[in-house]
Parts: sequence; C-alpha cells; structure tokens
Amino acid sequence: MASEDTAVVWFRRDLRVRDQPTFLAARERAGRALGLFVLDPTLLEPAGPRRTAFLYRCLRALDDDLGGRLLVVKGDPADVVPKIAKALGAGSVHVAADFGPYGRQRDEAVEKALGDVEFVRSGSPYVTEPGSITKSDGDPYKVFTPFSREWAKRIGDATPADTDAKTLSWMDPSDKDGGPRAVKVPDDPKLDAELPEAGEKAAREQWEAFVDEHLTDYDEMRDRPDRPGTSRMSVHLKYGTVHPRTLLADARGNGKGPTSFRNEICFRDFYAHVLWWFPRSARENFDPKFASMKLDTGKDAQQRFARWQEGRTGYPAIDAAMRQLSGEAWMHNRMRMAVASFLVKDLHLPWWWGATHFMNLLVDGDLASNQHGWQWAAGTGTDAAPYFRVFNPVTQGERFDPQGDYVRRWVPELAGIEGKKVHQPWKADEPPTDYPEPMVDHKAERQEALDRFNAL
Ligand code: FAD
Repeated sequence: MASEDTAVVWFRRDLRVRDQPTFLAARERAGRALGLFVLDPTLLEPAGPRRTAFLYRCLRALDDDLGGRLLVVKGDPADVVPKIAKALGAGSVHVAADFGPYGRQRDEAVEKALGDVEFVRSGSPYVTEPGSITKSDGDPYKVFTPFSREWAKRIGDATPADTDAKTLSWMDPSDKDGGPRAVKVPDDPKLDAELPEAGEKAAREQWEAFVDEHLTDYDEMRDRPDRPGTSRMSVHLKYGTVHPRTLLADARGNGKGPTSFRNEICFRDFYAHVLWWFPRSARENFDPKFASMKLDTGKDAQQRFARWQEGRTGYPAIDAAMRQLSGEAWMHNRMRMAVASFLVKDLHLPWWWGATHFMNLLVDGDLASNQHGWQWAAGTGTDAAPYFRVFNPVTQGERFDPQGDYVRRWVPELAGIEGKKVHQPWKADEPPTDYPEPMVDHKAERQEALDRFNAL
C-alpha cells in the first residue's frame, strides 16, 4: 500500500521515543509513519566493536518500543532512503538535523536525491543548534565563557517535546512493496569490555538515579573518579537515548550542583559549535601556532605510546585510568584530562595519537567533544589550558583519589598498598615487583615540554 499519507521517520542519533520533535512534525503531515534506521558502512566501520555493539543494543530496544516495527536496512543513505520513500509513496522524511562534517554532507545528498519528497529537519542532538550562537557581529565564539552566557539565555526555550511511541501510528515494514531489503539488527561483535546498559529505558533509569543521589552534590563530587558522582549520560547523549533538553528540565535552579551540571551540557554544545565553524579542528591544531611544535614520533615514541595505552606507565592514577578505558569503554573526565596531559607533556607525543586511541575505545566517543577535549589538554585548542599548565600525575591522584580506591580498583598489582601511599608505590617499604617504575621523570619532562613550547 503506497500513500502520500505516510511519513518516514529516519532515526540516527536520536534512538528514543520521548522528547522527539521529529514525531510531532511527522504527525502534522501524515496519518502513519515508517520508523527507519540505516546501517551506513561509512559510520559503522570507524565505530569499532564497542560503539557498534552499543548501537545494536539501542536499535533492539527502540524496535521493542515501536512494537517490532523498526525497519533496518543497510547501505548508502543517499541511495536507500529515497528508494524507501518512493516504495511507500511517502510525502516526507523526518530527521533530527546532524551537524557533524559527514552528517551534513550525507543529508544534503539525501535531500537532493529525494526530489519532491520533503526532507524535514526537526531539532538536533543539542540544546542549541550548532552555528546558531554567534557574537553580535556574526563571528563564532572561540572562548567558552562568553558562549555560555549566550547559551544560558536560550535554555529557557528548551522544553522537552511531549511524545512517546503512541504519538504516531507505526506501519508494519513488511507492508512495504519493493525498495531495499529489511535486515535483522546484526548480532553484537565480540567484545573485550563491559558496556553500560543500552536503550532509552536504561538511560532514564540511570538519569533518575543520578538526580536522586548525586545531582545536588555534583559540583563537589564531579572531580572524584573514586566515586559515582557523575551522570554517565555521555553515551546516552551520543546515541540520543536521551535528549539534553530532558536533562536540563530536571537540572534547574541556582543550586551549585545543577548549575555546574548545566555548564557541562553547555560544553557539549560549545564543542559542537566549534566543530561546525571549524571542521578542520577535528584533525589539526585549532591554534596553528603549534604546527611547528617539536613532537616525538619515532620508534621509541611508539613504545612509550604502547605503555600509555596499556596502563603501564608506572604512574598509578594514569594507569588506573587507561585500564578503566580498556575495561569499561569509559573514563572519568578528570582522568581524561590527566592522561591527555601526560601523553602530550610528559611523553611529548602528538595529541591526535591519544585522541584516536580514545575514539577506538570509548563507548561515548564523540568527534566534537573528544577532539576538542584533547586539544584543550594539549594547549592547542579553543581557550585551552595554557600550555605551561602541566598536570602532575602523582598530585592529581592524591587530590582526586585521596584514599587510593580508584587506583586499587583498576591496578590489582597495587592492591596491597593502603591509602594514598598507593600513588607513589616506589616509596613503599616493599614496592611491588610486578608493577613498573615510573617510565619518565615528571619534573624533567615538564621542563622539556616547557622548553619545546618556548622554542615555538
Ligand atoms: P557528567 O560529568 O555527568 O557530565 C554531563 C554531560 O556533560 C556529559 O555526559 C557530557 O555530555 C557533557 N560534558 C561533560 N564534560 C564535558 C566536556 N569537558 N566536554 C564536552 N562535554 C562534556 N565526552 C564525550 O561525550 N565523548 C568523548 O569522546 C569525550 N572525549 C573527551 C576527551 C578528553 C581528552 C576530555 C578531557 C574530555 C572528553 N569528553 C568526552 C568530555 C567528558 O570527559 C565526558 O563527557 C564525561 O566524562 C562523560 O561522563 P559523564 O556523562 O558522567 O559526565
């Protein structure tokens, strides 16, 4: 049955049924909807097994929420989406706008190939659409704080859309005549990490537990990797199993916890804006001055990189964090900053080596937040940490993991050293024989980093 009265809702980074502006736009135009997801090899290949498995799990959960009516197909969206719309005689295709470099190009190609079929963008994965906040002269913000003031003026408008699975009448995909073949969501690839629970329901439960137990103290506890003080919403924001509007609706008020939480959500929008304005910053130093910075890239550098990746640097807090990344596909924000500083300023390696390793292993790996987080730590990005700010790997541990619990959880070789002494095992009465000595002298490497910077 083909009908102008059909709308296609093409899910991408919005794998949920609540707070879904696309549903409202589709309902205005059509009596029934086809829910679609396209397995696009261009996006799947670089995602790696962890994000791929998480995506598949989200798709199975979404399919359940739609009563088993999600159509999954494989191929180039510019090819398959118009074919499906044509097979249905659909009048419109609905998406949440994508602002990433590839997503923008892909959507332009799909829109063109759709011809007369309307391509309707409603909302985006962000609170404010990337590119929408500029200085009064139209120039982009390159510094976070003034951006955040403008952003704060807008968030009052960010009311969640009132939708659920019943907002639309979902057609059975097997009623479709012709067009690309439906495929089953593939089995999960083989995994070497414990992933968080996927899907919208899991996102909601995780969020509600955070609001009940940790939001009020978020400002105080957000820097403590030894405590469960952060929301763990990053992966859900990445796949859109929750929208940041929904989070902001709960994180209102002037309390320190909610205020600080909103600030972090603003960082996410800020980096998406930066990527929109300066797509090259995903690959190159945002500040071109650093192009001539001396970096180590030879065989010895690669060996140092391998020790960092494996969590065998001899600095317990750094090693705990790198092993958390391997084991959980996630790392605490404080430790992301510390291990990034260590890679760039203690080991003198290119920040993009570290950024690529993160993107390979993080289940929340996100181009805008990751690349700009790395550039911040490397001192090469937008209002980056000044280059001379070098994190001390021992004092970071002592300050933010004051009892050493985080280290002992992830570095079992050090389980026998009590309290914060675990951050300097080489000073223990009997240093463990199966844990390495620090691979570099932090004081000397800090000086080396500063000398290289001064030589620019
Ligand atoms: P919470 O502390 O609960 O924060 C709530 C939300 O705010 C997060 O889920 C996230 O969406 C956003 N947020 C928090 N801090 C930042 C920040 N510094 N920049 C941008 N958004 C932020 N975040 C990613 O989502 N994907 C990445 O690939 C990523 N790579 C990073 C790499 C480096 C080197 C650094 C320093 C930071 C990176 N971040 C990244 C930001 C941050 O570390 C994570 O968002 C955060 O640790 C996720 O845990 P959470 O959800 O419990 O955070």
